[in-house]
Amino acid sequence: MVDNYRHKGLRKKLVELIKKRGIKNKQVLKAIETIPRHLFMNSSFLEFAYEDKPFPIGSGQTISQPYTVAFQTELLEINPEDKVLEIGTGSGYQACVLLELGVKVYSIERQKKLYQRAKEFLPSLGYNPKLFFGDGNKGLPTFAPFDKIIITAGAPIVPDNLLDQLKIGGIMVIPLGRNNTQIMKTIRKIAHSRYEEKEHGTFRFVPLLGDKAND
Ligand code: SAM
Repeated sequence: MVDNYRHKGLRKKLVELIKKRGIKNKQVLKAIETIPRHLFMNSSFLEFAYEDKPFPIGSGQTISQPYTVAFQTELLEINPEDKVLEIGTGSGYQACVLLELGVKVYSIERQKKLYQRAKEFLPSLGYNPKLFFGDGNKGLPTFAPFDKIIITAGAPIVPDNLLDQLKIGGIMVIPLGRNNTQIMKTIRKIAHSRYEEKEHGTFRFVPLLGDKAND
């Protein structure tokens, strides 16, 4: 697992690019500059790792575009003590960005192979999110409530279980839409069953799927 000066140089350029695209949060930019994204992808695609693009990671899934990872992370308004739930571990890259911000990360993935790969790979880089295999629509009632919830797949609806598991004052970031594109939304829980929603533009994600048994 090599992370050399060339990779570090490419990361610096990537950070400049996403800054130009509007990312301002210094800690988020620092996390992108720190994490060796090329190690989360198949090594034969090394030259693509530092382009601002999503990329296939197997099981029909993708590692999100760095700009999108940064954008969603920024919207979470992270505080260092936060407990964050991520739906869609995928490669584990987004979870590592969150860990770099000093929070506690719980992440759920429904593709067994991706879950297993992340569980082995992330600790080898020194990252230790709590990883779970299963349907993220159900959340993690045992560990709730969460300060922040991030969904990294396109959701047809806002899962009720996840709203229930959000703390009052907490924020959910969710790409919402039934078609190929989604609207990025933030949902702030201002009181029990009272929410404030904002829209943040159009994105394109792989779909958030339901329980595997019902596919
Ligand atoms: N956050 C990931 C990363 O940093 O690499 C990228 C996520 S990828 C765009 C979306 C992920 O959501 C895929 O790995 C997919 O298997 C997962 N997913 C889809 N539906 C899910 C569900 N119901 N529960 C948990 N994960 C789900």
